[in-house]
Parts: sequence; structure tokens; C-alpha cells
Amino acid sequence: MGLLEKTRLKSPWLLHYDGSSCNGCDIEVLACLTPMYDVERFGIINTGNPKHADILLITGSVNHRSARVVKNLYEQMPEPKVVVAVGVCAATGGVYHNCYNILGGIDKVIPVDVYVPGCAARPEAIIDGVVEGLNVLWEKWKRRPWYGIGYN
Ligand code: SF4
Repeated sequence: MGLLEKTRLKSPWLLHYDGSSCNGCDIEVLACLTPMYDVERFGIINTGNPKHADILLITGSVNHRSARVVKNLYEQMPEPKVVVAVGVCAATGGVYHNCYNILGGIDKVIPVDVYVPGCAARPEAIIDGVVEGLNVLWEKWKRRPWYGIGYN
């Protein structure tokens, strides 16, 4: 493993976006950053810049207005990248799935790598989802054309 992969896997930066949630899952995401769960001790940083992010953490479903923003954020993130859908709304549309303006889960707009269950998703489950996302990120790294070049 090269230095670049090591730094991204050991200290992944997250971008948190609320597609159209009730804010229940967002509160649980924020709980992960508090001293109680303190994900920063694992090197995980919550960034506001998609160009710095390795993992897109999305809560809530997508609607006609947020779909364009979700796609835009995803496209700005550097490859390889991982999407973690937090809660049943992000997975399927959840309690909003029959609403007039809802398209459904996040995978209606961008590819999702990890689904975190729950309504709301528990902080422990969100942290597990991010750790699973790191495994996916590592697998994606290994599929990059330049993987292994110059590492000795
Ligand atoms: S899964 Fe539940 S808590 Fe999370 S955004 Fe949907 S309704 Fe709210």
C-alpha cells in the first residue's frame, strides 16, 4: 500500500449531505462527531468540500430539487470514492416514498456502496457503515490502473 492510499484509508474525510430527511438521521451523524463517539479519534474528518472528501454520507431520500445537488456533489469528489446511504429514507425513500416530489432512495441518482439500516440509524451503525465503506474504498483503489506502480 502506498502513502497516498494509507493516508486516505487511515484518515478518511467525509462529506455529509441531507437529501431530504426529517433530520433524525442527521442528528445521529452529528452524534458521531461528539465526544461520546468521537470519530475524529479514528482520523475521520467531516469536511464541507466535496473535492476533499473520500466518503459521501447521505441521509434522507432524494427529491426533484436535491437530485441535481447530489449528482453535483458526487461528481466533484475525486476517484476513488464511496457513498454511504444512512437510514431507510436514503435506502428506499422510507416514510416519504409515496410523496409527490420524492424520487426514492439515493441510488436513483448515484451509485451507493453501503446501506446503513435504521430509522433513525444508530451512531454505532453509522460508524460501522463508514468502516465498511473504507473496505470498499480499498477495493476500488486496487482497481485503479496505476495501483502498485512505484511501491516497493
Ligand atoms: S430514516 Fe427515519 S430518522 Fe432517518 S431521515 Fe428517514 S424518517 Fe428521519
